[in-house]
Amino acid sequence: MTVIHWFRRDLRITDNTALNAAVSEHGGDVLPVFILDEALLHAKDMAPARVQFMLECLQVLDGQLRQRGGQLIVLRGQVQEELLKLAHEVQASTVYFNRDYTPAARTRDGQITQALEAAGCAVKSYKDSVLHEGDELLTGAGKPYTVFTPYKKSWLNAPKQRIEVGTWKLAPKLESPITGLPIPTPKLLGFTVAQQLPKGGELIGQAMLKEFAEGERLQRYNIDRDFPGIDGTSGLSPHLRFGTLSPRQCYYIAVANTNIIISSRQQLSPQSSDPKKSGGDAWISELIWREFYAQVLYHFPHANHGNFNKAYDMVTWGSGKPAQDAAHFKAWCEGRTGYPIIDAAMRQLNQTGWMHNRLRMIVASFLTKDLLLDWRLGESYFMQKLVDGDPASNNGGWQWAASTGTDAQPYFRIFNPKLQSERFDAEGQFIRKWVQELARVPVEYIHEPGTMPNMLQIKVNCVVGHNYPAPIVDHAKQKDEILARFKVAKA
Ligand code: FAD
Repeated sequence: MTVIHWFRRDLRITDNTALNAAVSEHGGDVLPVFILDEALLHAKDMAPARVQFMLECLQVLDGQLRQRGGQLIVLRGQVQEELLKLAHEVQASTVYFNRDYTPAARTRDGQITQALEAAGCAVKSYKDSVLHEGDELLTGAGKPYTVFTPYKKSWLNAPKQRIEVGTWKLAPKLESPITGLPIPTPKLLGFTVAQQLPKGGELIGQAMLKEFAEGERLQRYNIDRDFPGIDGTSGLSPHLRFGTLSPRQCYYIAVANTNIIISSRQQLSPQSSDPKKSGGDAWISELIWREFYAQVLYHFPHANHGNFNKAYDMVTWGSGKPAQDAAHFKAWCEGRTGYPIIDAAMRQLNQTGWMHNRLRMIVASFLTKDLLLDWRLGESYFMQKLVDGDPASNNGGWQWAASTGTDAQPYFRIFNPKLQSERFDAEGQFIRKWVQELARVPVEYIHEPGTMPNMLQIKVNCVVGHNYPAPIVDHAKQKDEILARFKVAKA
């Protein structure tokens, strides 16, 4: 009897929990399907970058499935309707899929499950996009974790799943009235992609993971990861976002390629989890942040649109002058704030659909604490641009920077963009790469070009206020202002 594997955020054939269960239980009589969801495609924050990356992943996936005797059926429309129609037409006994934990996805999946079951089709869902989900890790009091360090300890100690995968083949293309659509281009779906994006697909993702973990970069991760001018992080976030890699593959390869002490229970020992200890430890910590934020959104769906910490609902955002706020937001989006590190970071985002983690923290702090703008504006702009845009990690990152989140940056610790720039891009190598106007500015002025003598500004073709903006706000003044607002809200 035919079963359906519904691909969503798991665009790979290896180490795929639901797909593996479907093929092992049904001997390859599995119809793989992906549905282009009209509602998601037209959502406000849908990024052309993610659409392009996803379509490339689908192309690769289709090729892989064809090599195994099947093919990817691509449908487009209202997801529930399409899935019900397909299940009916192929007389599917079961629909398999991997779970998604965002509030919207859970609502959708609940409704679809009900509808399929009512139509006589069973539904089986699996944990796949995280190593530990939902209620699996709770505090001693049976509550969800809201602080990272104890969550991490519990995560490291919990038994880990491994998927035993044999070789499998799909049944030859099923005789079905539904042949599916050719995989469209972004343009056909109405998206124009102007960015130079990373390439999508499982084969590239797996090769990148191997290269990162088996080479020097994983070993050096704890040393290099904070410097945006160095290729010191894995660059795997879009692959984790679309599931062309599983977090298990990341975790096990990191364990295998680092000198982490493994306890007799085949788990990382928590004592070895000091991020300073090794690159592997530090990298696994980042994978755990990803799961921490997924479980935060799962347990506290109000954080999706509101402050996690409701005490900060009283913080007022904005300058009280809407036109000025709009101009500041535009300057931030376009990378024209007059703060070189902010401008370089935002231009990297706009041109590549990706931004280094250190820079995400700096620009998020700048938007909320220097421009005094609501974190939700930045969260939304990131989602419109990021190729790895993930509701939970993005929301968690923004609320951390705005000091409204779970394990948040304390509100009185505010990033100074110039000091961050001096510390993490000391030579201005990253700034010069992304802000052409500053390409010839000498290193002693690169973090604050306005301090250059006038004659030098002319000589290096960077006259501040003319061909590069003067800072749009005064950091010291804005810092006092936001501190005062948080204090009032806390009182
Ligand atoms: P690596 O350093 O190689 O880390 C490995 C993996 O761990 C990443 O691919 C990612 O999946 C995960 N990870 C790393 N750091 C974090 C973190 N702080 N929080 C959660 N997961 C992490 N990450 C996203 O995947 N999608 C987002 O939409 C997103 N938005 C962010 C917004 C803000 C304001 C901030 C501060 C961070 C955000 N992050 C987001 C987290 C982080 O910046 C990126 O995951 C990271 O830069 C991706 O680069 P990488 O793959 O080279 O990471």
